[in-house]
Amino acid sequence: TQQAILQQERLRALGQMASGIAHDINNAISPAMLYTESLLEREPGLSPTARRALENIARAIDDVAATVARMREFYRQRETGLALTQVRLNELVRQVVELTRARWSDMPLQRGTVIRLRTELAADDPVVLGTDNELREALINLVFNAVDAMPDGGTLTIRTGRRPEGPGESGPSVLLEVADDGLGMDEATRRRCLEPFFTTKGERGTGLGLAMVYGIAQRHGADLEVRSAPEQGTSVSLRFAAPMPDEGVAAPRADPDEKPPP
Ligand code: ADP
Repeated sequence: TQQAILQQERLRALGQMASGIAHDINNAISPAMLYTESLLEREPGLSPTARRALENIARAIDDVAATVARMREFYRQRETGLALTQVRLNELVRQVVELTRARWSDMPLQRGTVIRLRTELAADDPVVLGTDNELREALINLVFNAVDAMPDGGTLTIRTGRRPEGPGESGPSVLLEVADDGLGMDEATRRRCLEPFFTTKGERGTGLGLAMVYGIAQRHGADLEVRSAPEQGTSVSLRFAAPMPDEGVAAPRADPDEKPPP
């Protein structure tokens, strides 16, 4: 459709712009990674808190590196396969909760603003076939958006689940959902929210968060659904095809530059 072509064009423009800054980003994060790793390796006296913080920093830098690598891919327009691994969603949620905690946990600066976290994780530990870095990045973006939407506090819900085959679907699916009970979106905003550079946050926004999430969903063959109502809140859910029991176990890695998952 016309809309899809427009979306492709915008994503292409975004990729071109991104490749221009990828080089600078790499130059900036290389020393950061080096220092973090050398602290972790050469400072046996680190407190557990400091160690955990450094590990989170290392993981965040690793995600940035992966993003930069994907930006390059995007620019080269190379049709590469994803480096697929079995990603355990509950574990992914736990990591993202740690990585984003500083943004939503009650801090002295924002007294009175309490964001309550509710995680509803499926008991059977659902797995999707995908790239760990990308899925983490998507989830982080969704959490940040939810937090931005609750300036006066609220409840942040992160859910994982499994669903049997529905009507018009080709098998069971695995769900990942982030919901908030914040400001919500009017219909016009909801319709445009996936567009690159569309933002209602003025200077503070880039309008790239949901466009990234959309791209990641597409590459994973996942459906992305945004439900929202003004003053009620928003939920964004990703629906993946549930992998076959033995799928992806020995999948070859497509990109030799990319580091294997930890
Ligand atoms: P940014 O966050 O930089 O604005 P995004 O692409 O992530 O970029 O989001 C685009 C727009 O979609 C936001 O500016 C906001 O208007 C709307 N939006 C996204 N997530 C939410 C949410 N959880 N609640 C309300 N509005 C949202």
